[in-house]
Amino acid sequence: MTQFHHSAATKALKHKARALGFSDCGIAAVENLDKEMQFYESWVQQGYHASLGYMERNLDKRRDVSLILPGAQSVIVVTQNYYTPHRHPPKEDKSAGKISRYAWGDDYHDVIPLKLKELSACITELYPDAATKYYTDTGPVMEKQWAVRAGVGWQGKHSNIISRKYGSWFFLGIIITTAQFVYDRPMEDYCGTCTACIEYCPTNAIVEPGIVDAGACISYWTIEAKADQCIPDRIASTMEGWVFGCDICQDVCPWNRFSKETTEQSFQPRSFGTSLPIGLIKEMRQEEFSAMFRKSPIKRTKLAGLLRNALTLERNVSHD
Ligand code: SF4
Ligand code: SF4
Repeated sequence: MTQFHHSAATKALKHKARALGFSDCGIAAVENLDKEMQFYESWVQQGYHASLGYMERNLDKRRDVSLILPGAQSVIVVTQNYYTPHRHPPKEDKSAGKISRYAWGDDYHDVIPLKLKELSACITELYPDAATKYYTDTGPVMEKQWAVRAGVGWQGKHSNIISRKYGSWFFLGIIITTAQFVYDRPMEDYCGTCTACIEYCPTNAIVEPGIVDAGACISYWTIEAKADQCIPDRIASTMEGWVFGCDICQDVCPWNRFSKETTEQSFQPRSFGTSLPIGLIKEMRQEEFSAMFRKSPIKRTKLAGLLRNALTLERNVSHD
């Protein structure tokens, strides 16, 4: 294949990504992530991944994507904006628990893979012999690190990826392929001297720039921690009304002033809006939970986890 063909294929692929509604598309050449893995392994060794045991596994594949797809040449990173201009209830309203913005609409695990499948089909149209594999937060792929290498954003001090064009309210999708393209330059860091996310995190979970201690993070406790785990008092007393996730470090980020409304309708808030009444959660039966959160990220906690979060909030409000 000639350079001319790679260049035309790159244009065609990025055009298709835009047509599918992705906000951005960058491409990185496959190399081992040695520097990134040093940082990651030190994070794991310090226990900052809390009970997320899967993060300790497949370190070889995380370093070298050709162990996932032999002959891999390129990693394509797409972003999907999910910002909608809605707000949480005012903080004086203690009767409702706030939901993280990413969970107001449909589950991205149901939305993005369909588009990645179409984008992968575009690669095999351009390169009929190419192999592809795609992921959305589902495999041992260092998505954020590839996003930086592919130039779609930088990793902020809160550890999320930030775009200069539209902030950090977006999902990432990854395609690993044996096809070659023209590669983008890695993104520089534009946090500068800002430390807003570190200062405003109510639980001091951002222990150093870019290093989040999951065991101190409200998102971890209200989404990832199993329902039979009690939320520790030091977290419970500073949950600031969050019943599912926490957006504080992104809400205060100055780059999110550039957020633009998503064109993807499935990420608009569902009928329950941006919060859930604590009383409703306490009364909820399993059938209601299953119907209300079908294809929603909130189903991840299961009813028992959501109830644990609601009761923790209620207990701490009564101690305010
Ligand atoms: S999600 Fe909330 S608790 Fe976690 S690091 Fe950000 S501000 Fe802190
Ligand atoms: S709040 Fe400031 S330091 Fe934190 S990620 Fe945003 S720009 Fe970077």
